[in-house]
Amino acid sequence: MTTTLQPRPEDNNNDSGAGPFTFFPGKPRWTRPDRVLTYAVSPTATADHLPPSAVRAALRSAFARWADVIPMRFVEAERYDAADIKVGFYLYTDGRCDGCACIDSDDDDDEGDCEGVLAHSSMPEKSGQIHLHAAHRWTVNLAADTAPLAVDLESVAAHEIGHVLGLDHSSSRSSMMYPFISCRERKVRLTTDDVHGIQELYGANPHFSFGAYFKQDILSRIQQMKKEKKKKTRGSSFWQLDE
Ligand SMILES: [Zn+2]
Ligand SMILES: [Zn+2]
Repeated sequence: MTTTLQPRPEDNNNDSGAGPFTFFPGKPRWTRPDRVLTYAVSPTATADHLPPSAVRAALRSAFARWADVIPMRFVEAERYDAADIKVGFYLYTDGRCDGCACIDSDDDDDEGDCEGVLAHSSMPEKSGQIHLHAAHRWTVNLAADTAPLAVDLESVAAHEIGHVLGLDHSSSRSSMMYPFISCRERKVRLTTDDVHGIQELYGANPHFSFGAYFKQDILSRIQQMKKEKKKKTRGSSFWQLDE
C-alpha cells in the first residue's frame, strides 16, 4: 500500500535543471545569518499513544540528517511559541487540517484528494510548520509496532523537514523527497539527490564529504554482493558436501 506524504503533482519547478530534486517557486530558503533554526514539538497537539520523549528523539534524529550535510544547526527551542519550526499532530478531515489557522493558504496543501496524505508543511521562510496527520498509526519503532499500517515518524519528519528547508518533491524514487512512502517503510538516509538539492540552497557543511558520507552505503552494497556471490557458489557446487 502506498500513501502520499504530500501530493503536489502540479509542481515541477526545477530552477537548476541539475537533478530530479526541485525547489519551490522563487527558490525560497532560510536566510538567518547565524544559521541556526529552532524547532519544537507541540505540547498539546500530540500523538497520544507515543511518549513525548520518543517523538522528540525522532525529530532530533530527523533534523540531524539534514544538519550533517549543510552548515545549519537545528536547536530544540525551550518555548514552543518561540520556535522557528513548530511540529504537531493534527486531525485532517475533508482536506482541512485542524492546525492550519496559522499557515498561509498558499503554503498549505489541501487539494481535496487527501485520503492518504500523511503530513504537510510550510515552505521558507515566513513560518515553519510541520503538521503530522493525527489519524495515522505513527510509530517510532517499527520492530516493536507490528501494526500493518504503521507509519515511521522519523521517515516522514525527515521528508517534511526537507520541505520546510526549501526542497520540493523529487522524482528520484530513492530520494528522501520522493512524494510517496509505503506503510512500514523506513527511509531516513539522504541520497545524493537530496544532498545536491539541499546544498544548492545552503552550501555544504564543512565537515561533509560525499566519499565519507556514502562510504557506508558503498560498503554495505559490497557486503551484499559478496553475500550473494557466496550463496550462489554454495548453491551450485558445495551443497552436496554439506549433506
Ligand atoms: Zn512532500
Ligand atoms: Zn496543517
